[in-house]
Amino acid sequence: LIAAMSGVLFGGTALAQGPTSAKDNERANALLKQMTTEEKVGQLNQPFFFPVPVPGMKTDTVSYEDRVRRGEVGSFLFLTDPKKINELQKIALTETRLHIPILFGFDVIHGFDTEWPVPIATAASWDPAQAEAGQAMAAEEAGHAGLRWSFAPMLDIARDPRWGRISEGAGEDPYLGAAMARAQVFGFQGRPGSPRPFMATIKHFAGYGAAEGGRDYDAAYISEEELQNVYLPPFRAGVEAGAGTVMSAYMDLNDVPAAGNIHLLHDLLREQMGFKGFVVSDAFAVGSLVTQGFAKDRLDAAGRGAAAGVNMDMGSGTYLENLKKLVDAGKVSQAQLDELVRPILAAKYHLGLFEHPYADATDGTHVEMLAKHRAAERTAAARTAVLLRNEGGVLPLSKSVKKVAVIGPLGNSGADMNGPWSLTAKGEDSVSVYAGIKAKLQSADVEFAEGVQIAKAFPSSFDGLFGAKLETPWSGDEAASEMKKALDLASSSDVVVMTLGELAGMDFEYSSRSSLMLPGKQQELLEKIQAMGKPVVLLLFSTRPLDLQWASEHIPAIMDCYFGGTEAGNAVADLLVGDAVPGGKLPVSWPRAAGQIPVYYAHTESHKPYDSKEFTSRYWDVETSPLYPFGYGLSYSTFTISDLKLSAKSSPVNGAIKATAMITNTGAVAADEVVQLYIHQKYGSASRPVRELKGFERVTLKPGEKREVTFTIGHDERNYWSAAKNGWVVEPSEFDVWVGDSSAATLHDSFIVAE
Ligand code: BGC
Repeated sequence: LIAAMSGVLFGGTALAQGPTSAKDNERANALLKQMTTEEKVGQLNQPFFFPVPVPGMKTDTVSYEDRVRRGEVGSFLFLTDPKKINELQKIALTETRLHIPILFGFDVIHGFDTEWPVPIATAASWDPAQAEAGQAMAAEEAGHAGLRWSFAPMLDIARDPRWGRISEGAGEDPYLGAAMARAQVFGFQGRPGSPRPFMATIKHFAGYGAAEGGRDYDAAYISEEELQNVYLPPFRAGVEAGAGTVMSAYMDLNDVPAAGNIHLLHDLLREQMGFKGFVVSDAFAVGSLVTQGFAKDRLDAAGRGAAAGVNMDMGSGTYLENLKKLVDAGKVSQAQLDELVRPILAAKYHLGLFEHPYADATDGTHVEMLAKHRAAERTAAARTAVLLRNEGGVLPLSKSVKKVAVIGPLGNSGADMNGPWSLTAKGEDSVSVYAGIKAKLQSADVEFAEGVQIAKAFPSSFDGLFGAKLETPWSGDEAASEMKKALDLASSSDVVVMTLGELAGMDFEYSSRSSLMLPGKQQELLEKIQAMGKPVVLLLFSTRPLDLQWASEHIPAIMDCYFGGTEAGNAVADLLVGDAVPGGKLPVSWPRAAGQIPVYYAHTESHKPYDSKEFTSRYWDVETSPLYPFGYGLSYSTFTISDLKLSAKSSPVNGAIKATAMITNTGAVAADEVVQLYIHQKYGSASRPVRELKGFERVTLKPGEKREVTFTIGHDERNYWSAAKNGWVVEPSEFDVWVGDSSAATLHDSFIVAE
C-alpha cells in the first residue's frame, strides 16, 4: 500500500530509492571489495571540525590532517572554509590507500551566504515553490564552498511552541509539512532528471517535536496511529522525493532512544517507507545511547546503533572506537558492515565527489550569484509575513508620513533577522528593520530607540551564536532612562513601529521556554506606548507564537514577521508601505496562553453527551479556541471564496470527488490569498480529526479578478492509519468539506463514500 501511495503522489514515479543509481551502487560494491575493516569503519565516522576549541568539549590530540591520513574520516561536519576543505580533501585523495573523497556536510538550514527566511516562515508562505527555490539557492551557495550535504530539512511536526526548534520545521500540520518536505528535498537535490550534486537530510527521525513539555531533548510518547498519521507523513514525502539521508533523532521514542530504535529505523523507515539512502545519527547520539540509560557502554552502543541501521556516527567516535572490535568478535558481520558502508560510498559516487572533489569558491560568479539571491530573498521574506490584525486600516502606512519611531529590541539588529542556524551568513550583511524603513522612507524622519533589552532566564552556551549576544539587560536608572528615551521618541512621532519578540537564539535547539509572554519588559513598553494614543504597528519577530492576548485587543496592527533573513528589513519596509502585500498564513494555531498547549486544529472531537456546549473539553478561565486559527492571515485587500461545488455527492471507496470554489479579489489592491481545503470523516474504525487540511493553493489576483480553484478528494486524501485495523484504510463514511481562507472556514458541503 505504501508503494501504491508513492505512485499516486508522484504520478507513478516512486523515488524512494533515493538519489543514487544502480551504477553508483555497483561502483560502491566494487570499492567495498578492496576495503579493509578499518577503512570501512572510517567511512562511518563523521567527526566535527571546529575551527576553534569549543568550551566544555574534549579536544582531540590527533590533528584533523592526521585523522584523514589514517582513513578515519568518511565525512566532516562543520567545516565551511573552502580552502581548508580543499586541503583536507587533497590529503584524502592523495595520501590514503584508496583515495576515497571526504563528504563535507553542514547545517545549511535556510541559507548559506544569503539567509533565506527561517523554515517556519517559509511554511507560512504556503508556497512550496518558494521553499524549493530557497533550498536550491542554499545548495548552490554551499556547494560553491565545497559542501555537498546539508542536515536539512527538519520535518518534525511541532504542536508545542514552547519547543524552540519549532523555528526549523513547517509547523503543526502533516499535509503542509509533507508539501514543504517534498519541496525542500527537490530544492537541495534537484528534481528527478535534473539532479544537483548536493544531498538533503530529512530529520529528526522521528517524533522529536513531541518532546514532553516542549523541553528539547526530552522523551516523546507517541502512539503508532499518531506516529503514522501525524509525525511520519512529512518523512514519507521526503523519502518519496528521493532524500539521500535521514538523521535519527536524539530523544527516546516510547522509551527507546531513536539512534538505537529498530522499530523506527528498520521497520518504519527501511521496510515500510522503502528508504535506501543512509542514516546519520544526530550529533553524539550513538555515544548517548549510554547516557540515555539504554546501552551498557560504548561498545554496546556501537553494536546497537549498527543493529538499528545508523550508518554514520555523527560526532561521537563510538563506531570508530568499537566497530572493528565487534567485527573481530563476530558480533557484527562483514556483510552487516558492508550494508552500513555501501550507501555512503554510493552517495559519494552519486555526488560526483570522485570526479569533482574540490570546492570552487574562488570563481568569479559568486558575487553575481549573491546579488541575484538577495533580490529573490527580499521577495520571499515579504511573502512569509502574516498580518494578524489591521483595525482601522493602520497599514499600509502612507509614504508621506513625516516622523516614524522604530522602537524595540529587535529593531536595529540585522544579525537577529537572520534567525537561528545562520552560522555562515554575516550579521552585518543583513538589513535591520530600522535600516530598511530608513531606506524606504527617505524623506521622512525615521528614528530608533531600543527601549528595553531582553535576556534569557537561563543562558546557554549557544547564546550569541545567532543575533544579539546575551548581556545583562539594563537595570535600575539606566533601564528607566532608556525606557524614557523610547517614550519620548514615540510621543514626538506620527506613527510607532514596535519591533518586539525574541532574539534569534531564543528560537533554537536547547531553547525551550515555559511562558509565551514577550520576554523581559517588552510588554510594559508596549502598554506604555499604546497608552500614548499614537497609531501603533506591532511587528513581531519570533518563530513561536507569543502570548498576544492583550495586544490582540489593544494594538490596531500586528504583523508576524518571523526572522526574514538577509533582506528582512527591506522586506518589512516593503510590507509596511504596501509595496508588498501580506499573504502569509499561520502554519501553527496561535494559542491564547501557554496553559492551552497543545492547541492544534486537527484534534478529534471531545466527549459530548449530547449536542450542547456543556460537558465538553474546555478550561473555565480561557476559551478552548486558539487566538488565531491555523491557516489564518489577513491582507491589505479582501477576498470572497464562494460557490463551493462537488463533482458528485457520493463516491465509491476508490473514487475521487473534485471540489471547486470561486475566489474573488473584492478589494482595491492586487494581493494573494491561500485557498484551503479541509475535510472530516464523520465515522469509521477510528474518530478522525474534526478537520484536516487536504489541499491548498496560493493565488494572486488583481482587484476584481476571480479564479476557480479545484481540489481532488480521493484515496490519498481519505486514507489513514487505523489502530483498529493495524494498517492503512480508506473507509465508507460521510465526509464534510470546507473551503476557505483558514481552518475556521465556513463554506461547507458534504458527500458520502459508499461501500
Ligand atoms: C542538531 C541537529 C544538527 C546537528 C549538527 C544537533 O545538535 O540536533 O539538528 O544537524 O546538531 O549540527
